[in-house]
Amino acid sequence: MGEFELIARYFTRPTARAALGVGDDCALLQPAPGTQLAISSDMLVQGRHFFADADAFLLGHKALAVNLSDLAACGARPLAFTLALALPEADDAWLEPFSRGLFALADAHGCELIGGDTTQGPLNICITVFGEVPVVNGKSRALLRSGARAGDDVYVSGTLGDARLALEALRGTVALPAGVLAQACRRMEQPTPRVALGLALRGVATAAIDVSDGLLGDLGHILQASAVGATIDTSIAIGLIAACARPDWVNGIISSERQLDFVLAGGDDYELAFTAPASARQAVQAAAQQAQTPVTRIGKIEATSGLRLIDAQGRALTRSFASFDHFA
Ligand code: ADP
Ligand code: MG
Repeated sequence: MGEFELIARYFTRPTARAALGVGDDCALLQPAPGTQLAISSDMLVQGRHFFADADAFLLGHKALAVNLSDLAACGARPLAFTLALALPEADDAWLEPFSRGLFALADAHGCELIGGDTTQGPLNICITVFGEVPVVNGKSRALLRSGARAGDDVYVSGTLGDARLALEALRGTVALPAGVLAQACRRMEQPTPRVALGLALRGVATAAIDVSDGLLGDLGHILQASAVGATIDTSIAIGLIAACARPDWVNGIISSERQLDFVLAGGDDYELAFTAPASARQAVQAAAQQAQTPVTRIGKIEATSGLRLIDAQGRALTRSFASFDHFA
């Protein structure tokens, strides 16, 4: 199978929203009047982001999911994406499940594949997504990192730390019962981008980011961009790990210190961390309900810069948590 046959067989599909899809030198996108394009790229590299034997269907899902997560963080509605793919060989046994996983998630979000590039080389998957954000009275409705204000509440969606739990189990640093491992692996391999929540938070949240490198590090980006600080209640945050399973699965197997490590600095969660004024608490709950995505209030934005962690009694935690930095 040659390059063009490969593209035709696995990556060429009719488009409905894009003006022109795969097949010409450029794709054509027509943003609706009164909207901006939100654009983001994410690359998955073998050996760095996934193991050599990773399931191709799940990789297809994850490669798009991490990109949709960025659109979610901006409150953008997914429109289309491009796929730049380096492959060691044109292997049907890999391409078929990969494209199936990719298109299953794409179809669930009405996000169309409109182009890309295909080359021989070590497996590398780079996707660029395009989303749409309304502009109202000349002002973009995109959620940014820079809008948090002193007095805002800090929230996080869903659960945190489960992907890290899976990674540690695969590394052999923690032994998990089979059922728990399966659930945690699902979170690592098949993250759910919080697109509906991002859309529902437009006009409600003051700032947002998706949690890919660990909550503390990613929240730190909001604090820096907004020139504020925050206090996080770790007695609430610790409840975010594998919420459904915690009492009988995780407790007794993993120390609470380590659970907190996973929650605060685990990475690969693809939840949304966001801020909203205290006056918007009802609106935040309404958004969560509309998006059918649970959210938890875990702290407060303050004028004093820096990130402070407290326990249930309000005492400061002094230990440090390392967030993930590829070049650190
Ligand atoms: P060019 O040589 O002009 O860069 P290519 O020959 O690389 O174009 O690609 C031909 C067409 O197939 C283009 O429309 C391109 O966007 C599309 N394409 C190439 N690789 C992929 C891919 N992996 N997924 C989707 N579309 C692709
Ligand atoms: Mg090309």
